[in-house]
Amino acid sequence: MKYDVIIVGSGFAGSVLARCFADKGKKVLIYEKREHIAGNMYEEVLENGIRVHKYGPHIFHTNQKEVLDFLKKYGEWYFYEHKVLGKINNKLVPIPFNFKSLELLYEQTKALEIETKLKEEYKDTDKVSILSLINSQDKTIKEFGEFVYENVFRNYTAKQWNIKISEIDKSVIDRVPVVLGYDDRYFNDKYQFMPKDGYTKIFENLLDSKNIEIKLSTNALEDLSIKDNKVYLKGKEFKGKVIYTGAIDELFDYKFGPLPYRSLKLVFENYDMNYYQPTSVLNYPNEEDYTRITEFKYFSNQIIDGSTTILKEYPLKYDYKDKTKVPYYAIINPSNIEKYNKYFELVKSIPNLYMCGRLAEYKYYNMDAVIFRALELFKEIEN
Ligand code: FAD
Ligand code: UDP
Repeated sequence: MKYDVIIVGSGFAGSVLARCFADKGKKVLIYEKREHIAGNMYEEVLENGIRVHKYGPHIFHTNQKEVLDFLKKYGEWYFYEHKVLGKINNKLVPIPFNFKSLELLYEQTKALEIETKLKEEYKDTDKVSILSLINSQDKTIKEFGEFVYENVFRNYTAKQWNIKISEIDKSVIDRVPVVLGYDDRYFNDKYQFMPKDGYTKIFENLLDSKNIEIKLSTNALEDLSIKDNKVYLKGKEFKGKVIYTGAIDELFDYKFGPLPYRSLKLVFENYDMNYYQPTSVLNYPNEEDYTRITEFKYFSNQIIDGSTTILKEYPLKYDYKDKTKVPYYAIINPSNIEKYNKYFELVKSIPNLYMCGRLAEYKYYNMDAVIFRALELFKEIEN
């Protein structure tokens, strides 16, 4: 087959673009270095019959109807609002921290005093950044903020990122606000769903086109190279479009140095019991080395008696030379963005090369943001 488009990576960025081009009659070749499709969204069924998210818990939530409408074409979705508990002072309390968490951890009169103050101070909003609380001029609010900061954010963030909390981009911490009320959902987006038959099935449907060919277990950089602002496929200039969704520093052989990432050690454990914990995700901000435990049965609604599977996430240093480690989280800060921009300048000089996705753009994208970005990129470059 003669290809019109080459796509590197079969996560949401690569697969959405592949489908868009294929539907316009373009011949697409996807390179995927893993032995399976779906990138970090991949789900597999274990021997005990339980479907697990191989690269960590993934819950779909968005405010963008366009993204939801797109996904609905490739599988059934069921309504699922994610709820998380955190172990604080040996009690399980809602995360994001809300009024119920407050009432579980404070004595009743004090809890009421804090709630009244918060409602007065933040009249027009139902959620607030932890950073706003700790910087408050009001003594009661500031002390409350410091309590939440100390018990929910400080140690979790130190484990997850291994840098000082002051060096973390504010947008990262603000993903998890403090809720001024009793809403105990982890996300407050308008649309919240899970795929009925799992994410892998969504990807199988997305990629099911006679115009798409996939090469699994193949690093694209074995076949693709860049010279004099041109892309070469097996030594011959490729004039079609090339969409790259892998790590940008790897594409340019780390010529400006590696971009920093955080990785994870993911440890799956099976237990002969119906349920291990009372909720799908339990955060462990403090004493434990892991940050959270996921129990997958809650996501898939599977009825499997006497057996359950959990996942413990241990944050880990990333080293680009160690190919067993996955670059899960870009570490967003001004100097890393500056390094990214140097790589991106190289991309700009190659007219048929496009970056899309969490790695290629070095962003802390949720899946809906990646899908939206892929749909937008397609509109820009389809002709
Ligand atoms: P990826 O899924 O990483 O896909 C990139 C693909 O490219 C990979 O399969 C990789 O193997 C392949 N590749 C890279 N380089 C090459 C190469 N040279 N040759 C061939 N193939 C290559 N988002 C949510 O919306 N909700 C959540 O609950 C959520 N939870 C998350 C939990 C964790 C632990 C993590 C890490 C992320 C989570 N996300 C969540 C974010 C979500 O995973 C991403 O937004 C999304 O998967 C990114 O898609 P992508 O296509 O950009 O990247
Ligand atoms: N966070 C925290 N305590 C928690 C949950 C989150 O300190 O109980 C902070 C931490 O810095 C984390 C960030 O908020 O990296 C974003 O959390 P989120 O749950 O969105 O992370 P993800 O699911 O992307 O790993």
